[in-house]
Amino acid sequence: PTVLKDSILEVPKVRWTDIAGLGHVQKLLEEIMIRPIKFPDLYLKFGGAASRKGVLLYGPPGCAKTLIAQAVATESNQNFLAVKGSELIKMYVGESERAIRDVFRRARAAKPCIIFFDEIDSIGKSREKSQDSGLNVVTTLLNEMDGIEALKEVFIIGATNRPDILDSALIRPGRFDAHIHIGLPNEDARKQIFEIHTRKMPLAGDVDLGILASRTQDYSGADIKALCSITGEMGISDYTQNPSPDNTPEIRMCHFERALAEHSPHT
Ligand code: ATP
Repeated sequence: PTVLKDSILEVPKVRWTDIAGLGHVQKLLEEIMIRPIKFPDLYLKFGGAASRKGVLLYGPPGCAKTLIAQAVATESNQNFLAVKGSELIKMYVGESERAIRDVFRRARAAKPCIIFFDEIDSIGKSREKSQDSGLNVVTTLLNEMDGIEALKEVFIIGATNRPDILDSALIRPGRFDAHIHIGLPNEDARKQIFEIHTRKMPLAGDVDLGILASRTQDYSGADIKALCSITGEMGISDYTQNPSPDNTPEIRMCHFERALAEHSPHT
């Protein structure tokens, strides 16, 4: 059988408290994905009210799509099977299809399980537009999604930066039937992201995360995380260059200033 080296089965440890500024998404996903797991009988009684099998998270890179999928799995005690679309598409003709079937087979064996398809656009590209072997890959994915019965404890979360190029059959109800936009964090969310990523850092009293949030417009969560770690390195290097007794090992606002001046965000 085809082994997907990058598909990992794990129970992630990401909690909602690790994710800032996306309370509305949490609420929505709790309704769509977690409640049916908690109250399956109720849903059956209501005539299969939640027939959803998959949700699509879309938006710019680095804005917590992966984190969200992991949090859903953690908070609902489900296994988590992560697959990267770009890995699947690199395979030889026929092999990608086999790998997709294999992912679904493994998910059914590990249920309750969430399959997380990152970069779903690379396998779910519109069949009209793709010149490569995309046709069979999309068809296989559609068939596998159709083969999953709602409420049978396999859910699919897809993530993409390019929802516009997805095959329309894929985003039809019964497949990815809920589409949730995950945008760049606003100022308030950025402040919380700074709080999360500086939780374990020795911050000096002059560090003002509110000011940092106001100066990082257009930064993604991943950009903020990177900024915090660059800043940490600056603090360490400052200290190691002058480890005198009156030099406290801490991170000061000037380190953040320098990191901001020297590094621009990637997204
Ligand atoms: P991509 O499209 O590049 O795969 P993504 O949207 O899946 O990106 P993640 O991989 O979830 O983004 O985020 C990258 C990292 O950025 C996370 O591991 C996390 O540390 C940080 N991050 C992003 N958004 C947030 C947020 N809202 N709260 C806390 N951390 C965040």
